[in-house]
Amino acid sequence: MKVAFVDLLAQYKSIKPEIDNVIASVFKEGNFIGGHFVKEFELQFSALHQTKHCVAMGNGTDALYATLKMLGIKAGDEVLTPALSWISSAEIITQAGATPVFVDVDPQTHTINPKQIEQKVSRRTKAIVVVHLYGHMADMQAILKIAKKNNLKVIEDCAHAHFAESQGKKAGTLGDVGCFSFYPTKNLGAYGDGGCIITDDDELAEKIRRFVNHGGLTKDEHLIEGINSRLDSLQAAVLTTKLKYLSLWTKKRIQNAKRYELLLKGVDEIALPIIRSETKHAFHLYVIKTKRRNELKEYLKRNEIETLIHYPAALPLEPAYQYLNNSRKDFPVASTLTEEILSLPIYPELSDDQIEYVCEKIKRFFL
Ligand SMILES: *Cc1c(COP(=O)(O)O)cnc(C)c1O
Repeated sequence: MKVAFVDLLAQYKSIKPEIDNVIASVFKEGNFIGGHFVKEFELQFSALHQTKHCVAMGNGTDALYATLKMLGIKAGDEVLTPALSWISSAEIITQAGATPVFVDVDPQTHTINPKQIEQKVSRRTKAIVVVHLYGHMADMQAILKIAKKNNLKVIEDCAHAHFAESQGKKAGTLGDVGCFSFYPTKNLGAYGDGGCIITDDDELAEKIRRFVNHGGLTKDEHLIEGINSRLDSLQAAVLTTKLKYLSLWTKKRIQNAKRYELLLKGVDEIALPIIRSETKHAFHLYVIKTKRRNELKEYLKRNEIETLIHYPAALPLEPAYQYLNNSRKDFPVASTLTEEILSLPIYPELSDDQIEYVCEKIKRFFL
């Protein structure tokens, strides 16, 4: 049996007539940037999150970048960001002219460790980029408290966390701004790049809308300089169509996680994901831990099971951040995790047989 890490074709096949139809209607209208398809997506996405605004744009990295820029983050400022994440949550800080200050993660949940945040706050700290890693929400209650006390903006990176929840509130609605990616393999994926921000702040939403469209709300006035980062009408139409299925797909991811847990919980050599009781995990990724990670990964590969590592290196130790002179002992948790973590396939269309096959092979490996 072959088990791919994700199967985007399986998802397309499951909704093919609807997708084909909506793509045809975009072509028929001949309007490829902006327009009612984008408006419709923004309205639906903000309504589902009960936020006042959604601004769609070209990708999730730009969502984070535009947010930092329009919050006024600039040279001389520091922004806190987790040591274990995709590079987007750090590089946008440098792009805004500020300095990324990495914070180690919690050994159990792998999200930014609130206990370490306060030690890293300085007079220059202006904001925290919180990443809801793997679809599991960071400890927002603790983080919001620290942010309030130190007057910091909170930006939620929800690239893994569409429809994840904390105390019944959806990811992206707890901080000042929620930033989403619609990269094809994300829980809500376009057929190309896409992203958006959600917020209740009227002024900030309008500023961000300007910024991602060359600084102007219309073609002929430019209050500020901006960037070109827009969501295509095609991607918006695809996303609105897929949005109807996001709850169902999230449920299936959770079911798949439960199945893994049931089948793997007796295996002493591996640690399974830990879920904070106040949260709903969106299971973008199902990440296990084992001291024999590399061997297990090789063994699964030989058995045609594809796995990935999120991520193979702690960000502060990557060559791109050598100039900050960070060392392994500053990030002991993230450094150790990068040697032990392994992401198993968890996409919604994965069959029970496939999950059983993966678990059987894992058990055989440790026998
Ligand atoms: C994918 C991702 C992003 C950025 O998304 P793009 O749409 O690819 O720019 C940001 N943060 C995290 C954690 C991601 O995984």
